[in-house]
Amino acid sequence: MEVPVLSDRLPLISLVDIRKHYGGGDKPRVEILHGISLDIHAGEFVAIVGASGSGKSTLMNILGCLDKPSSGRYDFAGRNVADMEADELAWLRREAFGFVFQGYHLIATETAQENVEIPALYAGMPERERAERAQALLTRLGLGERLHYRPKQLSGGQQQRVSIARALMNGGRIILADEPTGALDSRSGEEVMRLLNELADAGHTIILITHDRDVAANARRVIEIRDGHVISDTGVLQPSLANTAPAFKLEADASQVAWRGDMLEACRAAWRVMWVNRFRTALTLLGIIIGVASVIVMMAVGMGTKERVVAELGAFGTNHIYVRPKHESSKVPGRGISVGDLEAIGDIPQITYVLPNLSGNKVVRYGNQDVQTRIKGSGAAMARMLNWPVEKGAFFSEEDNQRMATVAVIGPRLAQNLMPDVENPVGETVLIGNVPFQVIGVLVSKGAVTGDQSDDDLVVIPYSTASMRVFGERDPSYVTLEVGDMKQIDAVAKAVDDVLFSRHQIRDYGMENAAGWIAAQAKTQDSMSIMLALIAVISLLVGGIGVMNVMLMTVRERTREIGIRMATGARQRDILQQFLTEAVLVTTVGGVTGVLSGLAIGVILVFWGMPVIFSLSAIIGAFFCSVITGLVFGFMPARQAAKLDPVVALASE
Ligand code: ADP
Ligand code: MG
Repeated sequence: MEVPVLSDRLPLISLVDIRKHYGGGDKPRVEILHGISLDIHAGEFVAIVGASGSGKSTLMNILGCLDKPSSGRYDFAGRNVADMEADELAWLRREAFGFVFQGYHLIATETAQENVEIPALYAGMPERERAERAQALLTRLGLGERLHYRPKQLSGGQQQRVSIARALMNGGRIILADEPTGALDSRSGEEVMRLLNELADAGHTIILITHDRDVAANARRVIEIRDGHVISDTGVLQPSLANTAPAFKLEADASQVAWRGDMLEACRAAWRVMWVNRFRTALTLLGIIIGVASVIVMMAVGMGTKERVVAELGAFGTNHIYVRPKHESSKVPGRGISVGDLEAIGDIPQITYVLPNLSGNKVVRYGNQDVQTRIKGSGAAMARMLNWPVEKGAFFSEEDNQRMATVAVIGPRLAQNLMPDVENPVGETVLIGNVPFQVIGVLVSKGAVTGDQSDDDLVVIPYSTASMRVFGERDPSYVTLEVGDMKQIDAVAKAVDDVLFSRHQIRDYGMENAAGWIAAQAKTQDSMSIMLALIAVISLLVGGIGVMNVMLMTVRERTREIGIRMATGARQRDILQQFLTEAVLVTTVGGVTGVLSGLAIGVILVFWGMPVIFSLSAIIGAFFCSVITGLVFGFMPARQAAKLDPVVALASE
């Protein structure tokens, strides 16, 4: 940036034929300033006096670079203001000017000290230096005891002194005071005038605007305007004054230095605002909290369920294919799955074992005890294939099967029910139907109980025995095929289907395998993930719109605050940063609350016996989505705030 340096002879401010009009277009065009020309030198104490409505404030806004003239030329320290960019103007307002307004224009949510620090904040002054300087200024102005009071807790005169301290914070080389005593009682007014006099003596350039001639009499030069014309000017006095003025050298922009400090301060300010509006903020956050929490909970439950299913499948055997006749056809003799079918299937090379099963309910008797229970005829390999060993005794062998032996292996619960007094059932004889069987083993407990039924409540006997002597039925009720290589399970299933279809010419059988089941499971998992993503997107969208709504409201409510910040030197990007920070802080709080509630709900579900596995990536992802929502939905309101015209913003209620 080009730095203007004031030469002693050059006027600090030079206006040539400045005009300002409002309206135009469809509104009536009203010219307020009709060609004002005047020079003001560094170190002068000038009063601009005129009746109410004569255009004084309009002129001051132009002098302070808050507003632009409609035509005419304004040179500041030799540079044409019309050539300056928005950021350069902000820099001038920050470094060269200090405003004192009739209505004080302090930020209500901040303390006296914080208000005074604002211009230095935008100038990038380090925090400690800033605080010390603000305290020193306030103490000098008699407010050392009231550093942490908010504007509402201060009298008008005290508030005006705070605003003078703020004007001096960055040096206040030119103090622009618009009716500074207008709202004050006469004593406070006199005090403020005494202060301005002292500042003038210390070399500050003072431009005082007033409708009161007595107040104007304090100044060393009085310019009178009426209806937008300068009608009198007591003229520039002692040229020597310019020499006593403090060296007017504007330093380069130092704002980059304290970016982190800026950020911290923006967070702090955002937090204050959030706290003031906490109820409204909480309502806004609901959407985001629900979104984040539901994503975390649903992911956790989804993963937990999947894990449980996989564990159950593991016990079930993942390299098995189950083939069963379709219900209706099995009633037709010869149309079940025949022994011939089994042999043909057994010829498929990848099939390592064919286990026919035949099961049904029968009464089992021991002594005078009768129990109706499940009888299962199976092969000797069943214990191995279902991973179901015996606890006592032994499982029957392939030989037992071949010779149709009447031996039985019983479940532990059945053993309990049938022979509660017998310590070791092995060697006892039970009757199934009318056939006596010798108990040769007791299975270990599987433990699973569904309703009254328990896996432990059964009798396993050799398949041939079951077929010929118990059920009188040749064909198996279902067949378990063991496949050597689990990866080939789908190909093998297809081969089995081909064999059976060529033999039956009709699909009167059904097939299932765990691989297919896992695939189906994965598919439901996928559609569930899509649902989850949809829920997350919708709730974050709703949350985001809520945030945008609240931010737009905030910007509208705080338009004047934005004006004040701009008058004290905030750049557009400072305002943008501040409001974006607020939006992101809001959604960050929402994200954290959402994560915590998600975890809490998950823990409650664990107590209810639901399978829950928290996913770190889901938690982090949901949290970042909420933060990004703030960034995206906060941008529009923040930009709206940043684009506000300082004068319009200041004038708003
Ligand atoms: P003073 O400060 O001397 O009392 P102002 O500079 O505030 O006077 O206003 C001068 C005239 O300009 C007034 O008649 C006022 O109504 C008019 N005016 C000020 N601001 C606007 C505006 N934004 N749009 C239209 N007219 C305005
Ligand atoms: Mg005015």
